[in-house]
Amino acid sequence: MNGRVDWTDQLNRPLRDIRISVTDRCNFRCGYCMPAEVFGPDYAFLHNKELLTFTEILRLIRLFTGLGVEKVRLTGGEPLLRADLPDLIRGIREIDSVMDIALTTNASLLQGKAEELKKAGLDRVNVSLDALDEEVFRRMNGDRSDVNRVLTGIEAAAEVGLRVKVNMVVQKGINDHEVLPMAQYFKEKGHTLRFIEYMDVGNSNSWNRSDVVSKNKMVEQIGKEMPLIPMEASYFGEVASRYRYKGTDQEIGFISSVSEPFCGQCTRARLSAEGQLYTCLFASGGVDLRAPLRQGAEDDELLKIIRETWGERKDRYSEERGNHPSSYEKIEMSYIGG
Ligand code: SAM
Ligand code: SF4
Ligand code: SF4
Repeated sequence: MNGRVDWTDQLNRPLRDIRISVTDRCNFRCGYCMPAEVFGPDYAFLHNKELLTFTEILRLIRLFTGLGVEKVRLTGGEPLLRADLPDLIRGIREIDSVMDIALTTNASLLQGKAEELKKAGLDRVNVSLDALDEEVFRRMNGDRSDVNRVLTGIEAAAEVGLRVKVNMVVQKGINDHEVLPMAQYFKEKGHTLRFIEYMDVGNSNSWNRSDVVSKNKMVEQIGKEMPLIPMEASYFGEVASRYRYKGTDQEIGFISSVSEPFCGQCTRARLSAEGQLYTCLFASGGVDLRAPLRQGAEDDELLKIIRETWGERKDRYSEERGNHPSSYEKIEMSYIGG
């Protein structure tokens, strides 16, 4: 008995993780997330005073842990653009029931910050990298960074003892020819690489199902060159199907939210940078926590809102994908946090 609380939703899924977007801004313009045509110079990003302060975020995390949350992921936008992020991580580390603190980043600013992040108490980083080929990568990130900058960030994180995973979003005809070189490179380097099926997040990326490369296709393609052995999920709610390369312990994973949705095990809540609580990545609306926070709500009142929001949750967008009208409006991923 570990004294852990289970606060379950309508589909009996416990609340275990909170993903917090600390900024809606980003220095990249990945076409599948923040296409430059939409997120241009006139785009209305949140003002600083609209963002939750670290004190507000820490108070909310404490309340979430009272309902069973054990893992915290900081994301965005690009979380390393938020000033003084290590201060927030230090604060989270002081919360006893938080077992795991992770960061999702494009790694363009990671090299100079890895050591401070580790010292502050960060456990893990997930670095996004969509290609090793310079031209392909630049085309995908809106010409904002070279490959080497990201690779240097990855190695800096590993050197200071952060656990590193690399995530690659695969889009047919754009970077699917990079699947094998990426697998070979990161197998050699000893970092777990995870391939993410391109998803219909937000309304800006003109998603089309025919642009998705399925997990099975990628497993087949990689397996022909480097045989793969399936592994068991290591915990309830794990998003990636895990494999290892035959004859090694080196892992590789696939996040197949389109071809094999995993809503039945989704234990994640999301908090936007301005304090909206969302219960699904594909939500069209959230519940405002910032207003009650700033109007002086007691912990009990905030807890009631969070408990009721999760208790009423029925989301299973990926399992119902085909049933939604094309007019269905979703929150952008850079705002809600990946
Ligand atoms: N900027 C950070 C980064 O890129 O790692 C954190 C935020 S980003 C929104 C989080 C993750 O979402 C990244 O791994 C990114 O590749 C992924 N992502 C964004 N748009 C996506 C899409 N349409 N389909 C699948 N994954 C997507
Ligand atoms: Fe920025 Fe990450 Fe979105 Fe790319 S995926 S635009 S790096 S937030
Ligand atoms: Fe969770 Fe929503 Fe994704 Fe399903 S679609 S796994 S409910 S975030």
